Amino acid sequence: MSFEVRYSDLGGRIGKLNTAHGIIDTPAFIPVVHPINQIVDVKLLKKMGFGAIITNAYITLKHYGDNARKKGIHRIIDFDGIVMTDSGGYQVLEYGNIDIGPIEMAKFEIDIKTDIAVPLDKPTGFGLEYSKAIKYVNQTISNVKETVEVIKNNSCNTNEINTIWAAPVQGAEHLDLVEQSAKLFDNMNFKLMALGSPVELMEAYEFAKLSEIICTLKKTIPSKPIHLFGAGHPLTIPLAVALGCDMFDSASYILYAKDNRYMHSNGTTRLEEITYFPCSCSICNSYTPHELLETTEIERIIQLSLHNLYVLKKEVNSVKQSILDGRLWEYIMSKAHNHPKLMDAVRLFKNFDYLEDGTPIYKNKAIYFNEPYDQYRPEAKRFRKMVTKYIINNKNKLILYPETKIHPFYSSKNFIKIKELFSDGEVFSYNPFLGVIPAEISDIFPASHNIISIENDSQSFAANYSTFVDAMKFFLKVNQGKNIIIIANEFMKQIIHYFFYSQENIIKIFNSNIKIVDYKENILFDEISEIQ
Ligand SMILES: [Zn+2]
Repeated sequence: MSFEVRYSDLGGRIGKLNTAHGIIDTPAFIPVVHPINQIVDVKLLKKMGFGAIITNAYITLKHYGDNARKKGIHRIIDFDGIVMTDSGGYQVLEYGNIDIGPIEMAKFEIDIKTDIAVPLDKPTGFGLEYSKAIKYVNQTISNVKETVEVIKNNSCNTNEINTIWAAPVQGAEHLDLVEQSAKLFDNMNFKLMALGSPVELMEAYEFAKLSEIICTLKKTIPSKPIHLFGAGHPLTIPLAVALGCDMFDSASYILYAKDNRYMHSNGTTRLEEITYFPCSCSICNSYTPHELLETTEIERIIQLSLHNLYVLKKEVNSVKQSILDGRLWEYIMSKAHNHPKLMDAVRLFKNFDYLEDGTPIYKNKAIYFNEPYDQYRPEAKRFRKMVTKYIINNKNKLILYPETKIHPFYSSKNFIKIKELFSDGEVFSYNPFLGVIPAEISDIFPASHNIISIENDSQSFAANYSTFVDAMKFFLKVNQGKNIIIIANEFMKQIIHYFFYSQENIIKIFNSNIKIVDYKENILFDEISEIQ
């Protein structure tokens, strides 16, 4: 099995996963198909661009048995694309135990020539007490070990791509169990990880918890592809992708449709509550909400399912394009503004250092700083870290000047004037999101590739920029005893007021000759020159 990553942003990756029946372009949504009662024609799914589907091996075994072994799963469900099979874990979650063991299940999945198989697992679900969760995880691990023996005995040495096995990582909110399972499966050489059953978690909109689980898995296994079970909501898809999941499956499109729920980019609304369709797919173009309500039940379920699939596809495509554009941060932030629970999850991103690894060092497009939280986007975090070594210098006179609209700062008129006045000094600009920026490197991304909006009129807005305060503290500490001139705009004045109280205090703390000069739109350079 090969998984090739072509582009990335945050944890999100555009990649290709090779299977026996073709390539999955990731991130990919994989619709759940029922092996017996599939309401939406699988050929339609393929036509809509869903090249891979997932179906249930347990139900297939129970219903078709030897016939499925003879025909193979592709013919059984009449789909010539990529087929993934879930082993019955979902049935275990729903009904407790099932009457088939891991060995029989593994043999069956091999016999029906599934492209991606999952060993029989025992999902922990969500909200399971720790002592039980351990038992479930250990049961899953034991099943996986038995499955591996079956795989070894059945592997053929041809050049054909065999079934890809996805290791079911259980444990849910018990993060140590997630980590333990992941490590073990990684060592057992599984190439694909499948994160188990967070359906209940997602239904409860516990996106922050979900983020912590995904982060735990990603920190343990940074590069292998990850499948997330049960993610089929327009808010969970961008979150899961941004955190590093590559595939997800769900039956949500049909389950919502059966419940008359119409999907849109931020969630679902009941069909009877809609007057205007906010969508222009072929279904929404053919019916008014009222007309769709008037159709027969089966017709309505099919049409709503197709519309829901269209929304999911659009969501996946939007996320993919955001990765290519280097705008996944902007995209996930805009989604987060539509739901506080998603915002709770995104607020954890500042602690997830691995998101920096996937974010390109350089982007063609300017990045946006719209709100205080954007100070934590990986590009800004990385820049502030990098800059620290340039802030330590041997000049005795240092000038801090607010960043101008001209990028890079060293090409602005004001910089040139300051440099004329202080030929023996070192000039820095500052910006609420990037901190203190040495002029000499003000052409480095993203110092010269950003667009800022900052609220300036509230009394305490500066209090939200803790990374800026840290950057200032570092700057003043490493340059103790020097002559420092701070040309202070409103933002800097507030920072000084809230965190250092006064000019006198800041001089006392940092034992430097610090002068603070008010910045004005047309600053008089004579005033500054008097200071030196
Ligand atoms: Zn539609």
